[in-house]
Amino acid sequence: MDTIYGHESIKQKLEYAAKHGRLHHAYLFVGPKGVGKASLARAFIKTLYCERRASDGAFRACGQCEMCLRFDKAVSYFQKNVKTNYFSSPSQKEPDKPIAAVGLPDYIELEDNKAMLSVDVIRLLQERLAQALYGAPHRYVLIPEAAKMNASAANCLLKTLEEPTTETTFILTTSQPERLLPTIISRCQMVRFAAFEHDEVESWLRTRYTAAEEYVIAQVATMASGSLGLAVELMQGDDRDAILSAFQMIINERDSIEAMTVAASLKGKKQIFIPVVRLLLLFLRDILYVQTVDETHIVLRHHQETVLRCARTCAVEDVMRAIEAIQSYYEAFLGNGNEQILWERVALSFQRVLFRK
Ligand SMILES: [Zn+2]
Repeated sequence: MDTIYGHESIKQKLEYAAKHGRLHHAYLFVGPKGVGKASLARAFIKTLYCERRASDGAFRACGQCEMCLRFDKAVSYFQKNVKTNYFSSPSQKEPDKPIAAVGLPDYIELEDNKAMLSVDVIRLLQERLAQALYGAPHRYVLIPEAAKMNASAANCLLKTLEEPTTETTFILTTSQPERLLPTIISRCQMVRFAAFEHDEVESWLRTRYTAAEEYVIAQVATMASGSLGLAVELMQGDDRDAILSAFQMIINERDSIEAMTVAASLKGKKQIFIPVVRLLLLFLRDILYVQTVDETHIVLRHHQETVLRCARTCAVEDVMRAIEAIQSYYEAFLGNGNEQILWERVALSFQRVLFRK
């Protein structure tokens, strides 16, 4: 499990339970998207399967024994095939038997590319659970984003969770526990994952993207708000340039006419509103921090000069008022406010506070 970044106390608890034979029959990993819930679950299961883990007392998969290799093969099978073709029999009317993963049939991962996980999939899973083990000492079932189950699928799974067996362990993950049936939650041992700290995201990005420029890493870490998954998307995705350029335009606007022009150019770019506003709030907080404490903790270091200049020329009260205003536009956006009007308000309140003549 030490290949998984962070979450040390969770790893310790799982390791303790495994070593002392106190594994629960079903776990629910709850936490924000992209913090590594499913990755940690896979690493944990691999370690449990590993045949050489006990030899030196460390709770670590060797990565080389037969079970480790079979597990890796099963995971890559799921990642390649299952997401795109859950039922692998295009010619048949009846869905094929599910998920006999190449390599390790006793490890089952339920995820498809649809928005919902249907009751058919859960029924196929149950048929499978009714059969004997395929040679492994234990069966593990991973259901990532379990809130994808619709009501009938969840009720169907509930029956299985209510009759635990000694040979099968479930791990469900979700970023939306409020969408799960309370009865499902109560059948599982809950494990809570926290978002990563800004510095943790930065240092993780540095090890993963060694060629990336430092200011890109700082900005992506800021925008990702504690999610490594979102950080990866931002490092690779198309929106990053749009977000950064919108942010640059807003902090550089000189007068209200320019602010309106900027807002007009952002019309329709709904998907970048939240990250841009997050960056603007961080920028304002940097200014306020310099004004009220010191210059040592500027988060947006790439914009340090602009932050310092604004800290000299703006009034503290104006900066505080702008933070409040932009925070309220952020909330209005979440409450389905008119995106075009909100871009205008954000652009104007920024221009007013920073370039007040
Ligand atoms: Zn091994």
